[in-house]
Amino acid sequence: MALQVPVLICGGGPVGLALAVELGSRGIECMLIERGDGNVTVPKMSQVSTRTMEFCRRWGIAEEVKRAGWPQTHPGDFIYVTTMVGYEIFRQKFASYAEQGDLGYTPEGPRQCPQIFFDPILLRYAASLPSVTLRHRTEAESFEAGLDGVHARVTSLDSGDSETINAAYLVGCDGFDGLVRKTLNTEYEGSGLLSYSLSIFFRSKALGELHDKGWARFYRLVDGSGHWSDLVAIDGRELWRLTLFQLDPDTDADSFDAASALIRAVGKPFSSEVLSVLPWKRRELVAKSYGAGRVFIAGDAAHQMSPTGGLGMNTGIGDAVDLGWKLAAMLQGWAGARLLESYELERKPVATTSVLASSEVFQYETSLPADPTITDDSPDGARARRQLTEALNGRRGAGNERLHESVKLGYCYEGSPVICPEREMAIAKRETFRQLCRSGARAPHAWISEGHSTLDLFGDGFVLLRFGKNSVAVNKIVDAAAACAVPLAVHDINDGKIAELYERELVLVRPDGHVAWRGDVCPDDALALIDQVRGAVTP
Ligand SMILES: Cc1cc2nc3c(=O)[nH]c(=O)nc-3n(C[C@H](O)[C@H](O)[C@H](O)COP(=O)(O)OP(=O)(O)OC[C@H]3O[C@@H](n4cnc5c(N)ncnc54)[C@H](O)[C@@H]3O)c2cc1C
Repeated sequence: MALQVPVLICGGGPVGLALAVELGSRGIECMLIERGDGNVTVPKMSQVSTRTMEFCRRWGIAEEVKRAGWPQTHPGDFIYVTTMVGYEIFRQKFASYAEQGDLGYTPEGPRQCPQIFFDPILLRYAASLPSVTLRHRTEAESFEAGLDGVHARVTSLDSGDSETINAAYLVGCDGFDGLVRKTLNTEYEGSGLLSYSLSIFFRSKALGELHDKGWARFYRLVDGSGHWSDLVAIDGRELWRLTLFQLDPDTDADSFDAASALIRAVGKPFSSEVLSVLPWKRRELVAKSYGAGRVFIAGDAAHQMSPTGGLGMNTGIGDAVDLGWKLAAMLQGWAGARLLESYELERKPVATTSVLASSEVFQYETSLPADPTITDDSPDGARARRQLTEALNGRRGAGNERLHESVKLGYCYEGSPVICPEREMAIAKRETFRQLCRSGARAPHAWISEGHSTLDLFGDGFVLLRFGKNSVAVNKIVDAAAACAVPLAVHDINDGKIAELYERELVLVRPDGHVAWRGDVCPDDALALIDQVRGAVTP
């Protein structure tokens, strides 16, 4: 008899694992199949965003992520150099995690925790959840979706045995050009290919010591040919990744001269061991459709962006969180028939913004002035370096990281059919980030007591926050939620500052931490409110 599972996840990269964690932490049975063996050997993603860290906090793995990556006392600077032993042109300083202090807008700031450390943390946590089954060395070959469910054909790569798995839902987290999107027959839209790149992952204990720049997370290499590569310190000890930006399309990874590229970056020979050479393509694409009915896609399967800005995986994890609670609501029986439609409507605009923002950074960085004399020990060389410093000074002002946070954290699901619209001005796109409580936006962080954030209240079901003198009756909302079996908890917050931040007496927050509705009184038709936020209303 065919195996039955409520949710089948195809692909066990960070996004598939995050979906398994999101479903598993809600007690939803799911099976993840992954053709690889679970070992991550290439550190592609390095920066875990604030929002992903906030999800990790909810999942209870944030402390592990913080311990796994970058040393607490190393600064996180971004330095422009001619070579590691050459001239320093510009430095954007970022305090070490130990010195960073309270960021104010989040309980968990962004963290350097490259994929070789981050994915295994997700994997271990997913494996510990009783309702999650992980099957590695298993490949999805094909699937058919009908009204009654999805029938997927999978094959064990060890035994060669094939079997059918019947699922209520299938989610393709199978990366760029994956089987699920292709079978759905949905195209990618966008500019497509931006450049051919190549990443050299290597080990060198010597490199940290042989230059005078000190520890930084990023060293941007600039020479007479322009901005040609990034050297990323992976663990702040001995692991490094050199990424070359613009390569010939015919570059062959097997015959590529990695040793010469490393010497070009460092400026002299040094002791190192090349661990892998990964050629990859920088793309700007978003899938036309994120799926419907019983089959959806998430992560790189749905969008491809330049890594500049560190948005790829983080956007995918946002997809997994959005889809996760909605699938749980469907399977628990309290979702309206249209809840899943809102997945694409909410997440595709976020991907489009992220894709464009990432390309913008790439285009800006690679179009900075290139001068053939920039490495020279001469007046011309000094002038070229000074010009680049000035250009970078103009760009990387103090607010720059906050601008990035507006893309990573400030997105708002306004216009979603399961968000109640409000009269307040929408959050301006790409403005410097500041926390705003708005329907559709992430509910703001504030400390309720030491170590306890407002964000810690969210996750399980809907949460109705009640501010002020607790005089506003909420029983209509509570009764309406109970009538629809929508999980809802009411929390009173008697703190004037937090009340000011949230601006309304009542704020309804979804299981993913986004505001669904705000008001000063309980609406007369509370059932209509609950029906809208659970996707039971036809707009
Ligand atoms: C150099 C570089 C630096 C980057 N830096 C960052 C960064 O700092 N921040 C950031 O957010 N992102 C970054 N990214 C992007 C990030 O690595 C990707 O967005 C992320 O890995 C996507 O995760 P995913 O799970 O969607 O897809 P993938 O990681 O591609 O995983 C898909 C999985 O599906 C499996 N699979 C595919 N088809 C099947 C099948 N038929 N059956 C079974 N299994 C299947 C594959 O084996 C794979 O494990 C970077 C990327 C690169 C190249």
